[in-house]
Amino acid sequence: MDTPTICIIDESIKETKDIKTFIFNYDKKTNPGQFFMIWIPGVDEIPMSVSYIKEKKKGITFRSIGDATKALFKLDKDDQIGIRGPYGKGFDYTGTHLLFVGGGTGIAMIAPAIEHALKMKKKVTCVLGAKKMDELFFVERIKDMRATVCISTDDGSCGSKGYASDLASNIIETNDIDAIYTCGPEPMMRAVYENSKNIPFQASLERYMKCGVGICGQCCVGEGLRSCIDGPIFDRKTLQKIKDFGVWRRDASGKKIFI
Ligand SMILES: Cc1cc2nc3c(=O)[nH]c(=O)nc-3n(C[C@H](O)[C@H](O)[C@H](O)COP(=O)(O)OP(=O)(O)OC[C@H]3O[C@@H](n4cnc5c(N)ncnc54)[C@H](O)[C@@H]3O)c2cc1C
Repeated sequence: MDTPTICIIDESIKETKDIKTFIFNYDKKTNPGQFFMIWIPGVDEIPMSVSYIKEKKKGITFRSIGDATKALFKLDKDDQIGIRGPYGKGFDYTGTHLLFVGGGTGIAMIAPAIEHALKMKKKVTCVLGAKKMDELFFVERIKDMRATVCISTDDGSCGSKGYASDLASNIIETNDIDAIYTCGPEPMMRAVYENSKNIPFQASLERYMKCGVGICGQCCVGEGLRSCIDGPIFDRKTLQKIKDFGVWRRDASGKKIFI
């Protein structure tokens, strides 16, 4: 297993009141959908998807919710973090008109995937969903990439009122979508999966991860798949066999927690 590379935070961007982006020098080749294990010295090591991909720089974008992410949130430019990875499988791109659906912090990893798809000359429509307007981030970044951006908020404070999955269903009904890519709350991803007939579909499943490299088995889904190395991106065919998708996950002790 790799040891963490100590990286200095080069740029710290406050995206919302509890979401931050850190950019750091890290030149390992990384694909959209892959993740890093982020070591916060003295606190914990946690998985985070890549949210910025440049040749020599990478970034993560995270919400402050518990011990590790609160400690991470307190760090700033010039502080140090440890990075292992990238790990896991990234997205596969197929077809010409792609729909990306990002909900909550799931928007973070959708952004570099859109960037990549546009570089491949794909037509991109994306749905960005949040509970309310002040929880949205990366909207200008994605608009500047020239993707068609559709926004939904649960309370209607920005874009369509309602769930991102409902807005995605309308787009699927009225457009010829060739493939769907999603990351966010599992009920949202499950709803998009069910409402998208047989359109090729890929989702990022976040499971409790300890090693990140397939040794500990903590992040198992379905019949013995390890989301750290077999995922975290799974396609429709695989998801059909993962009975826990949108239903339950395991906590740090291995106990089932219903979603
Ligand atoms: C592949 C992957 C990519 C992720 N990418 C992002 C991202 O881009 N941005 C972001 O904000 N969050 C992301 N997460 C979630 C992030 O890892 C957790 O929110 C974080 O670990 C919470 O730790 P905590 O101590 O702050 O919170 P806690 O209070 O300990 O936990 C809060 C929630 O996070 C989950 N969690 C805690 N530790 C882990 C762990 N080691 N592995 C997985 N889940 C954990 C808990 O089960 C709980 O649901 C990702 C998770 C995975 C598996």
